[in-house]
Amino acid sequence: MEYHDSETAQDMADRVGAFMDDVVLPREREALATGEPITTEEMEALWEQAKERDLFAPQVPTEYGGQGLDFREMLPSFEQVGRSLIGARSIRANAPDEGNMHTLEMVGTPEQKEKWLRPLVSGEISSGFSMTEPMQGGGSDPKMLKTTAQKDGDEWVLNGHKWWTTGGMNADILLVMARTDPDAHPYEGTSIILVPADTEGVTVVRDIPHLGDHSITEQSVGHAEIKYENVRVPLKNTLGAENQGFQIAQMRLGGGRLTHCMRYSGMAERALDIAKAYLAEREAFGSTLADKQALRHRIADAETRLHAARTMVRHAARELDHSEARIEVAMAKLFTANVTNDIIDLAVQCCGGAGIGKDLPLAHFYEHVRAFRIVDGADEVHRRSIARDAFDAVEEVEIPNTPQFDEELWIDEFDG
Ligand SMILES: Cc1cc2nc3c(=O)[nH]c(=O)nc-3n(C[C@H](O)[C@H](O)[C@H](O)COP(=O)(O)OP(=O)(O)OC[C@H]3O[C@@H](n4cnc5c(N)ncnc54)[C@H](O)[C@@H]3O)c2cc1C
Repeated sequence: MEYHDSETAQDMADRVGAFMDDVVLPREREALATGEPITTEEMEALWEQAKERDLFAPQVPTEYGGQGLDFREMLPSFEQVGRSLIGARSIRANAPDEGNMHTLEMVGTPEQKEKWLRPLVSGEISSGFSMTEPMQGGGSDPKMLKTTAQKDGDEWVLNGHKWWTTGGMNADILLVMARTDPDAHPYEGTSIILVPADTEGVTVVRDIPHLGDHSITEQSVGHAEIKYENVRVPLKNTLGAENQGFQIAQMRLGGGRLTHCMRYSGMAERALDIAKAYLAEREAFGSTLADKQALRHRIADAETRLHAARTMVRHAARELDHSEARIEVAMAKLFTANVTNDIIDLAVQCCGGAGIGKDLPLAHFYEHVRAFRIVDGADEVHRRSIARDAFDAVEEVEIPNTPQFDEELWIDEFDG
């Protein structure tokens, strides 16, 4: 499908696609076939190759070691990396580091950028974004955030309990959302604090066992439960303006939701390619499976919906240039999460036993993609925002031929 992305965007996507085809996908296939995980040294060697090809960290300004592409220019490259389980990591465009780099770049002080952004881009250090909390803390409703940071002299003292901090097991720097003004509304009284993971009082409790936790790399990303107990960091570790944490998180999430959509669209596209190749070759009941109308129609629907998702993501990305585009992003995220889940499920079904087996990447895709309907806002949370916006726009209109109930006919004993 032709999307007429800019020349810069298309050139980068072609080169990223070639890197996936020539280098990354063959290594992924080997890891799946042998069960031998991809080592940290091999991952670093992939980074070196990505650097030689000018593909490394396409989303980061050149002064910090990236390729300096803007959001729309990197879009089709992010779709390309989604085709492989290790694609995003191989060019340092993986969550959560990619979103954290973006946040540091947007609102970090020059000192914070030197200390954390530069080594984060190079891969010397890694990061986590610590927002979600266990019962009854912040989750779908982030206003319920319980973690606090109180001022003591020139330091913050943090106390709280977080979980599902992606990358938190190996992170060197944690971006922690904490209430910094308990008297203000949470949206006006929360800050993001940069907490080095080796600070006294930070305890990584465990890597939360989860669907899709079998990794083909030696060092899996993991999702950590973390306790913060009397953790002291300097006030200058505030990321962006004090008490503006939600506004900054929203800037991070707007783009972050779309980059997730791009990567998962790439994953769905590859799943569909594998399914079509299988259907074209496999015979049953006197013809290839690709000849069966029941399957042809499902593939046609999948192609159509994937195209719609990719178009919506491009539209939302364009709108982000002009505004927060909350509704466009919510719609794109809700739709893409469901389409990619459905397509990967269909691909598994089309490939029969081979879809369940782990020689193909489909079973891994299936396990990974399910979380996408929950992370970065669950389906229902996005529907809530979209519906609120839809009803806000309702004008009072008289509905013709609809009589009002006659109050006098009301029988008191049924009242209430
Ligand atoms: C793989 C993975 C990675 C993650 N990475 C991170 C990370 O790096 N950092 C971080 O801070 N968090 C992370 N999270 C947490 C994620 O953001 C939360 O799980 C998500 O926001 C939902 O919050 P919750 O789990 O508390 O669910 P809850 O708030 O308990 O909601 C449970 C379910 O209720 C439903 N629901 C919620 N609100 C409504 C409503 N208004 N109407 C109807 N139904 C509703 C939804 O289906 C939702 O899934 C990650 C989670 C996963 C699974």
